[in-house]
Amino acid sequence: MQVEGEWTELADGVFARRHGELDLTTGLLVGTERCLVIDTRGDLEQGAELAAAVRSVTSLPWTVVYTHAHFDHAWGGEAFLPTHVWGHRDCAHELLTQSETVRAEWIAHYRGEGKFDTADALARTTLVPPDRTVTGLAELPLGGRTAVLLHPGQAHTGHDIVVHARDAGVLFAGDVVEQAEHGFGVDSFGSDTYLASWPDTMDVLLGLEPDVVVPGHGNPVDAAFVRRHRDGLRELVTLRDALSRHRLTRQEVLAASPYPADVTEAALGGQL
Ligand SMILES: [Zn+2]
Repeated sequence: MQVEGEWTELADGVFARRHGELDLTTGLLVGTERCLVIDTRGDLEQGAELAAAVRSVTSLPWTVVYTHAHFDHAWGGEAFLPTHVWGHRDCAHELLTQSETVRAEWIAHYRGEGKFDTADALARTTLVPPDRTVTGLAELPLGGRTAVLLHPGQAHTGHDIVVHARDAGVLFAGDVVEQAEHGFGVDSFGSDTYLASWPDTMDVLLGLEPDVVVPGHGNPVDAAFVRRHRDGLRELVTLRDALSRHRLTRQEVLAASPYPADVTEAALGGQL
C-alpha cells in the first residue's frame, strides 16, 4: 500500500502519488533533462501542494499532461506555469466551455460537506487548458527516456489520454483504469462515459504490455487487474443492451452484474 501524499518510485525515475481528496493518483516521470507531471490535482492550492512535492524529487523543468478534463485531475495546472500543458484537443475544448457548470456543482458539493476551504479554493482557481493538444499519439523526449502520450479510444470520457513510460513498463492510465473497492466506483461512470467502447480501449492498453498500470484513483495495478475489469465492463455492456432490448428487467440486470447495484446503475447511464 502506498502512503497518502508520498511518492512511490515504481521504477527508476517513475513515480506515483496518492491523495486523500477523491483518492486521486498523480504521476511523475523524470528524464535527464525534463520531467513530466501527469495530472495536477483539483484546484490552485492542491496544484501548488503537488508542485512543491515534485520539487522535492527533482529540480528539472517540467511539462504537464492532463489525462482528461475532470476537475480533480486538471484544475491544478496554474501552479505549474509557465510551461506547456498537453492534453487531448477535446480536453481543451471541455475546459474552455463546460468548466463553470462543473465549478458551481462542486463548490455546492464541498459546501454541503462542510469543506468550505476546498470550495473557496475551487472558486479562486484559474483554469489552464492544454496549449499542446494530441488526438492520436505524441512522443515527448525527457532526456534518456521518452513519454508516449496516447488517446487509446473512448472510455471514461471521449478524450482520455494515457502516458506510457515504455522503457520502464509503466502505464499511467488516468481514469480508463480505476482501483476502487470493486475496481470501478459510482464516480467511474458519468454522462460523458463511453461504456460500449471502453472494453476495446482497455484492450489497447493491454496491447502495450505494461508491467504496472497506474490508475487515476487508487493503487497501481497489474495487467491481470485490467483484464478482469475489461471483462467486467463487457458484461455491463451486454447487460445494458439486454435491458434496452427488454430482454432483462432492471432487477435482473442488477442481480447479474459483477458490480454492486450503485456502480451498475451508474454504468447504465452515459453515452452509448
Ligand atoms: Zn475522471
